Amino acid sequence: MTDELRDLYQEVILDHGKNPRNFRHPADANRHAHGHNPLCGDRITVYLKVDGEGIVRDVAFEGRGCAISTASASLMTEVLKGKAPEQIKALFDNFHYLATGAGDAYPAAGIEDELERLEVLGGVRQYPMRVKCATLAWHTMNAALGSGDKEAVSTE
Ligand code: ZN
Repeated sequence: MTDELRDLYQEVILDHGKNPRNFRHPADANRHAHGHNPLCGDRITVYLKVDGEGIVRDVAFEGRGCAISTASASLMTEVLKGKAPEQIKALFDNFHYLATGAGDAYPAAGIEDELERLEVLGGVRQYPMRVKCATLAWHTMNAALGSGDKEAVSTE
């Protein structure tokens, strides 16, 4: 990665960390889950509004955490809106691979732009302490979708 690109990525993370998008509690959310990353102290609640077909109509979050966890949650809310269950799974799997190096990355139709947007967080892979900050929102989102009710998630 060139220094220029690295700086650009940092700028995106700082921007989302300072001015998180979709930082709110939608009144009509029908799924939510709490997440906690004890290593860093990040806490998050992810809210989803999912329709009968499983399409995410709205996604937002609240919480308190470091710039990486906040930026990751903010970016996540931007890429998940309007997505179908199989696309959400593909985004989760690809992001997990990007951030941790574990699992598999694979192409999926209709989410190419979204995956490109998430690449800014790929740098955390080099910092084991930061990986859990970046994946917290995603694990919490997964718990919200899976359980349909609140469920504590710990990334420890
Ligand atoms: Zn953190």
